Amino acid sequence: MRVLSKIELLRPPTGDTQLASMRGEVRANALDRPGVYRMLSSDGEIVYVGKSKKLRTRLLSYFRCSFPEDKGARIVREATRIEWDYHPSEFASLLEELRLIKLYRPRLNVAMKRDARHFAFIKLTRGAAAKLLVVRGAGADDAQVYYGPFHGAHRVGEAVRELNDALGLRDCRLDQPMHFADQPELFHEFPRTPGCIRYEIRKCLGPCVGGCSAAQYAERVRLVREFLDGADDGPMHTLRGEMEAASERLEFERAAVLRDKLASLEHLRAEFIRFRFAVETLSFVYTVPGFQGDDRIFLIRRGRVRGQHVVPRSESERVRLLEMVEDVFNPVERDTAQVPAHEIDELLLLSSWFRRFPAELGRSRQADAFAAEPLPPNDGARDPMASSASSAA
Ligand code: SF4
Repeated sequence: MRVLSKIELLRPPTGDTQLASMRGEVRANALDRPGVYRMLSSDGEIVYVGKSKKLRTRLLSYFRCSFPEDKGARIVREATRIEWDYHPSEFASLLEELRLIKLYRPRLNVAMKRDARHFAFIKLTRGAAAKLLVVRGAGADDAQVYYGPFHGAHRVGEAVRELNDALGLRDCRLDQPMHFADQPELFHEFPRTPGCIRYEIRKCLGPCVGGCSAAQYAERVRLVREFLDGADDGPMHTLRGEMEAASERLEFERAAVLRDKLASLEHLRAEFIRFRFAVETLSFVYTVPGFQGDDRIFLIRRGRVRGQHVVPRSESERVRLLEMVEDVFNPVERDTAQVPAHEIDELLLLSSWFRRFPAELGRSRQADAFAAEPLPPNDGARDPMASSASSAA
């Protein structure tokens, strides 16, 4: 049985008279063209955001839901008002829908699952005893560090386990109590036994049992970040140095352990490169036909829309567009696996779009090829309503 939120309990469902009035507004004012709509409750809360390439048809479908348990019926019964904006295309509407969902986090929009089945990310949690998690997308906390996207959550999970073992990071529950060696213990006795066997078999530094100081653990976290970032030799360089130093001190057992860890990391580096989705493939200039000739050009780099422009109809518009293209594509960007949390949803959205509609890639051009193309013929009037908004109260 569905558990009702406090807000739903406080707020009675919208009555039939108000629903009829909302439907009347949609019938009278909404056009069948691409757009984004917002469902608002009586106190102005945006409870749901959606998009459609046929806005009017989509909105009217909410009023035809037969059963109160239908998702559409639930949404419309929470709203007393619908607002909408038109956009030149379904693609532009998708981007705007994403922007509004991230801005308002409407209660009835489920967590974004675009392409979540296809990709996994590695998240490094915050805190003194950080740990790696394999996740499908970004959470609400933008401050976490993410790496990816990777194909195959299961295989990535196994590789992360190996990485934890090689560098001694914990992989226990997030709420496992931690006791660093240098942590003052004023009120509690120091735990005598670790939370699991990994400390005893030397696969974890043992921050739960004073097996390492906070600084020692942080140093391993730094190595993990370097490794996942793929910036350079990172932890391999460090381990190689430690191994050689151990050999010189005739600590052959320790040197052998370090040699095995090094081999494991070298294998893992190749694995992570193999699993990683090349975000660079989502870098191009994408021209999207718009409603009534309002065609738009989207500048996409590394899975994110970095700019958009109308299709130029004059030399001055073309010059402005080419300057934008240069600004977006010319700066050298390091091919890092680290992806800012706030970019993950857009990256998933774009990859999902081109996966669902592969023919759309035919409208894309590499930036340099695009810049060399002549101006398109001035054969279409732009839609005068392209950026105007309409709403029904
Ligand atoms: S040894 Fe302790 S810190 Fe390490 S994984 Fe086990 S419970 Fe966690």
